[in-house]
Amino acid sequence: MDYLISVSFGELTLKGDNRKDFENRIIRKIKKAIADFEVEEFYKEQGKVYIKADRELFDEMIEQIKKVFGIFYICEVLRTEKKLENIREATRVLVSDLGINEEKTFKVFVNRVDKKFTPKSPELSRDLGGVVLKNFGNLLKVDVHNPQMPIYVDVKEYVYVYVKRYKGFGGLPIGSSGRGLLLLSGGIDSPVAGFVMGKRGMEIGAIHFHSYPFTSERGEEKVKDLAKILSNYVGKFTMTSINLLPIQKEIASKCPEKEITILGRIFMMKIAEKLAIKQNYHALITGESLGQVASQTIQGITVVDKSTEISILRPLIAMDKTEIIDIARTIDTYETSILPFEDCCTVFLPKHPVTKPKIEDINNSLALLEVDKLIDEALANKKVYEINEQ
Ligand code: ATP
Ligand code: MG
Repeated sequence: MDYLISVSFGELTLKGDNRKDFENRIIRKIKKAIADFEVEEFYKEQGKVYIKADRELFDEMIEQIKKVFGIFYICEVLRTEKKLENIREATRVLVSDLGINEEKTFKVFVNRVDKKFTPKSPELSRDLGGVVLKNFGNLLKVDVHNPQMPIYVDVKEYVYVYVKRYKGFGGLPIGSSGRGLLLLSGGIDSPVAGFVMGKRGMEIGAIHFHSYPFTSERGEEKVKDLAKILSNYVGKFTMTSINLLPIQKEIASKCPEKEITILGRIFMMKIAEKLAIKQNYHALITGESLGQVASQTIQGITVVDKSTEISILRPLIAMDKTEIIDIARTIDTYETSILPFEDCCTVFLPKHPVTKPKIEDINNSLALLEVDKLIDEALANKKVYEINEQ
């Protein structure tokens, strides 16, 4: 009898080559996540990966594995031979090891993958339920409808008995859904946007805009810190940093004051688009959420879309701030995001920003500027950072 970690993954809808590709990717990611640990066995058996290592390391290993996208559950399983006596003993040992000291209800769930094995699932569940009651009946009672402690038994090549089950993030492994360039500000939303697209399998790169010396170097450090936290989930990536100040100054001197914000955003998108095409990204990603601020109206979003050709993904568009904050807390970016540093957008804030911009007005304003030249100059002065997991 041995304790192992089991990892279950995969969207049920994936079939054929997609499925194989998905599994290979995810297995590579899992191996990478636990590269620092000594592993005694690592194998795949019918849709799950099993990892044998020193049980003392399980908590730390599970913490690392949890960050891999595409995983649904991670369990601590007790593996035993496929013989009734052994399964009974494993069930007893597993429950005993849990050290239960309060009353609880339980139910045994048998998943008989090996259909040749007898007894069949209902009898085996009853039999093992009997074992639990006999040994721990003073505290544990059966509840078949809503058990507090499900006991799972998978009958495969071996038999795996387990109670401890941790939820993964789900989604798809990074790299299975193309490449997206994230517009990463120092705020709460954009790291979350990068995370959720990463969870959907997108490889992430980032672009950040600052207005140095109007914004501080420490502000840029904060964005790098956020990028580092994000890379714990999406892997290492490149972050390009662009000084938007010359463009903001041009806009402020030549265009209507109320359009400063929206024009600034259009330049951000155009610069990001140019970089994305050059670096083979398929789409831009932003943390916009409808109605959150003056620039995030449907009219504002439409005007930005009309000014660029690349797909712009806005995964948070329909989320409330509280939902976004919940994710930010889960992925550990929240505390860094709320540190008070100037964002480049706040440097030139119009008193009454236009909330329903019209594309004709915006085009008229853009015609007052040397758009391509400004974009090329901004890109020529870019700084590039390699962001690595912490
Ligand atoms: P966030 O919390 O992500 O800063 P926000 O609520 O402050 O978002 P805006 O400032 O309107 O909203 O920005 C909307 C989106 O535009 C951001 O989520 C981000 O994707 C992009 N963005 C804004 N400012 C910057 C910046 N300085 N650098 C890169 N991207 C930015
Ligand atoms: Mg912001």
